[in-house]
Amino acid sequence: MIGKKLFGTRGIRGPLSTKVTPELMLRLGCALAEYVNGGEVVVGWDTRTSGEMLTRAFTAGLISGGSNVIEIGTVPSPCLAFTTRSLGAGAGAIITASHNPPEDNGIAFYRSDGTEFLTEDEVSLERIFFGSGGKISKWDELGTVRRYEPITPYLNAIKKLVKVRPGLKVVVDCANGAGSLVTPRLLRELGCKVVTLNAHPDGHFPGRPPEPQPWNLTDLMATVREANADIGLAHDGDADRIAVVDEQGNFVKADTIIALFAELAVARSNGGTVVTSINTSVAIDEVVARAGGKVYRTGLGDFTEAMLERHACFAAEPGKLVFLELGPWADGVFSAAKLLELLSTESKPLSEIIAERVPNYPTYYNDFECPDEIKDEFMHEMRDYLLSSVDEIHEVVEVDGVRINRKNGSWILVRTSGTEPKARLVVEGRDEAELERLREIVLKKIKEYLKA
Ligand code: MG
Repeated sequence: MIGKKLFGTRGIRGPLSTKVTPELMLRLGCALAEYVNGGEVVVGWDTRTSGEMLTRAFTAGLISGGSNVIEIGTVPSPCLAFTTRSLGAGAGAIITASHNPPEDNGIAFYRSDGTEFLTEDEVSLERIFFGSGGKISKWDELGTVRRYEPITPYLNAIKKLVKVRPGLKVVVDCANGAGSLVTPRLLRELGCKVVTLNAHPDGHFPGRPPEPQPWNLTDLMATVREANADIGLAHDGDADRIAVVDEQGNFVKADTIIALFAELAVARSNGGTVVTSINTSVAIDEVVARAGGKVYRTGLGDFTEAMLERHACFAAEPGKLVFLELGPWADGVFSAAKLLELLSTESKPLSEIIAERVPNYPTYYNDFECPDEIKDEFMHEMRDYLLSSVDEIHEVVEVDGVRINRKNGSWILVRTSGTEPKARLVVEGRDEAELERLREIVLKKIKEYLKA
C-alpha cells in the first residue's frame, strides 16, 4: 500500500457515527469531481438505512465540483459497474458496506471500464482529498443530476450470455440487500421456479447478517431440503458475492465454486491464466492444470491489477467471481445465472457434478487477535518458524503473509488482516490426519506468540 489513509482493501468502510459521515461523503464527492475532471459519475446505493442520506451528501459534492451525476437508485454493486461502463461515464460509485453490520456504511469506486479503482486511482483521489479538496464551482458551472433505470438493461445483457433449461427450482436468499431487487427477477425471467428468502430491501437486515457464511445460511439450507430445490443461492448486502448450497442442503465451499468455473473458463479459452487470492485451495490448481491453464495468486483485495496485467480468462476470491464475458467486476448476480446454466448443461445434481470434477481436501480456518503494532514482528517470527518446522517444502509464496506449499500439495497460510487487528490461519491437508499434524505445528507457535 503506497500511503493510503482512507481506503481499505475494498473502498472505504466503517461505522456511520465515527467514520463514514455525511461530511466525509461531501468531501469525497468534491474530490472525485476533480479526479474525473468534470466527467459524468454514476451513483447508486445498497439497502442500508443511511444509503440515501450519504448519497445526497456525496452527490452535492460531485455537483459542486462540476460533475454531472447519473443516479441509478438501489442496485447491486455489479449492476453499478455494468452501468458505468455501458453509459461511458467517467467513474461509478456505490454507497455500500458490503457484508459489514447494519450500522456501518461505506463507498466503493469503479473506473469507466467497470473495474474497481486500482491502487493508483485510490492514491490519486486521496491526494486531491487531502490536498486541494476539489473545487467549488460557480453558480453557472455546477453539475446536474439525472435518473436512469439500470436494471432492465443489465438483466438483458446477462440473459444474452446464458442458456438455462426452464423448470429448475432455486431458493435464493438476498439478505434483504440490493440483490433483492434483481436476482429473483432474473431467475424467473430465465424460466426457473424461484423460492425467495429475505428478498425485500430492508437496511435493518432482519433475516440474517449480510455476510453469506454457512453459519448465517441455516434457513437457506433447510428451505432447499424442504422445497426439494436443485440449488440454493445467497448474496451479501451488495450482491457482488454469491454463496451456494447443493440440492441436499449442504453448503458448497467457496473454493469449489471457483474451481468449477475456472476449469470451464480455461477449457473455453484453450488454456490461459486464472487469477485467485492467496487463501484458496490447491484443488483450483489441479483442475486448471487438467484443463491446460495456470493459476496466479495475489493478496486479498488485489486481484484486479493482476487480472488486467496477465490477461486472465477468469478471476476470483472466495465468493467473488469475475466472468470476463460480461465484464471485469465481481458479479454475484451473473454468478447465479452461470450456476443455473451449469445445472442445465450437465443434467445431474450439483453434488454429483462437484464430486466428479473437484477434489475435496480438508481445510482448517481460524482467526487470532493480533494488535496492529505487533503484526510485523509476528509475521517475521512465523516465517522463520514455519521454514524451519515444516518438512517437504515445495515453495514459499509471500504476496500476502506467508504461504508454504508442500511437495504433496498440502499448504499453510499465515497472514495478518489489512482491516482488523487479527492474524488469519489457513491449513489444507491431503487428508484429515495430515491436516491435524500440520495444524498442530502452526498452532503451537501461534499460541505461544499471541497467547491465543
Ligand atoms: Mg460485497
